[in-house]
This record gives sequence, C-alpha cells and structure tokens, in this order.
Amino acid sequence: SRVKEAEFVKSSARARDCPKDDRPEFAVLGRSNVGKSSLINALIRRKEAALTSKKPGKTQTINHFLVNKSWYLVDLPGYGFAAASQSARTDWSSFTKGYFLNRDTLVGVLLLVDASIPPQKIDIDCANWLGRNNIGLTYVFTKCDKSKKGKGGRPEENIKEFQETISSLYPEPPPWIMTSSVTGLGRDGLLLHMSQLRNY
Ligand code: GDP
Repeated sequence: SRVKEAEFVKSSARARDCPKDDRPEFAVLGRSNVGKSSLINALIRRKEAALTSKKPGKTQTINHFLVNKSWYLVDLPGYGFAAASQSARTDWSSFTKGYFLNRDTLVGVLLLVDASIPPQKIDIDCANWLGRNNIGLTYVFTKCDKSKKGKGGRPEENIKEFQETISSLYPEPPPWIMTSSVTGLGRDGLLLHMSQLRNY
C-alpha cells in the first residue's frame, strides 16, 4: 500500500469529463476547512497537490491524481462553504451528485469529518445521502491531534457522538479511521484500507 509516485492528471468541470479508463478510484469529500487538502497532500506526499478551489464563485472542479499508475485519488469540491450563496450550494450538490451516481469506477468515498469539533448537521446530511444511495463510505476523522478542554473539545468524544448520530443510517456501520495531517496519524492505515478495498 505504499505510494511510490503520484501525479496530477486533470481537473474536470463535469462528471463526464473525468478520465475514461478503468482504474479504481477513491473520492475525498468534506466540508470546507475540514483538512482535505492537508490530508491529500499527506497521503501522496506532495506540498501543493490538492488544488480544489475554495472560494465561492470560482469554478469547482473534480481533480484526479494518479497514484502508482494504478489508482486515482480524487479531490472533490468542499461543501458548506459559509460564504457561499444558496445557488452556489445547489450547484455543488447537482455537480457532485452527478459524479457519485455516474462514476462506475468509484470504489469508495472518504468522507472527512473534523474530529476537533462536535458533529455538524451538514456532515450528517452528507453521510445520510451517500448511505441512501448505497455509496461505499469510510469516515475519515481529521485533526485528531487537536484537543481542547470543555464540551465538544475532545476528538474521541466527538467521534463517538458522530457515530451514534449516524448509526441508524446503515445496516452495518461504515469503517472509520482517525487521522492527523500534523502527526501523520492514520496515514498508513488509510492507505492500507484503500488497498484492501481495491483488491476486494
Ligand atoms: P480544506 O479546506 O478542507 O482543504 O482544509 P485545509 O487542508 O486547507 O486545512 C484547513 C485548516 O485546518 C488549515 O489551517 C490547516 O492547517 C488545518 N489542519 C488541517 N489538517 C489538520 C490536522 O490534522 N490537525 C490540525 N491541528 N490542523 C489541521
């Protein structure tokens, strides 16, 4: 499950513009500021790998990175950007939903959830939508190095609460992993997990 090489392949404005070969892929998804760029950069060990535009109004794209010439890691636009207009949010959903529902080579979605804050409704809604559409999901909890005193400050507590909130959505709870792009926690485990899913 080692990353020997990774290269940026392309940015696609629509699902039908994505690469057309049969390589398996994993999509990385999460709220803006969840730590998605940091995690992608840590996974493939590049400084400027994740290019997803964060500003509302900028074209949102699906970015494909080819890893070891054999599988793709896909950076999707972040959702829930606080300053985005209602119409920008709607665009995001039809755009991203189109990708999820039409991408045959999609092996799984890594749903990033910030473990340093209490569960957010938008993340729960997202997990709910993916579950209803039978899209294979792994919860990737980010910022697990970050702990504060007081309610909602401890990653373990926030993760437990998130799992409990979501537990009725799936017949079996999705796999999950704790990560930190600061300490490197979970990096090897997540790469191993993805290699197991690819060979399944
Ligand atoms: P994105 O908007 O989801 O791509 O998030 P970024 O990767 O740009 O990260 C958003 C902010 O969270 C930045 O200030 C990062 O330095 C910080 N951040 C990202 N990952 C971690 C992490 O694992 N631990 C901590 N403590 N901060 C992180």
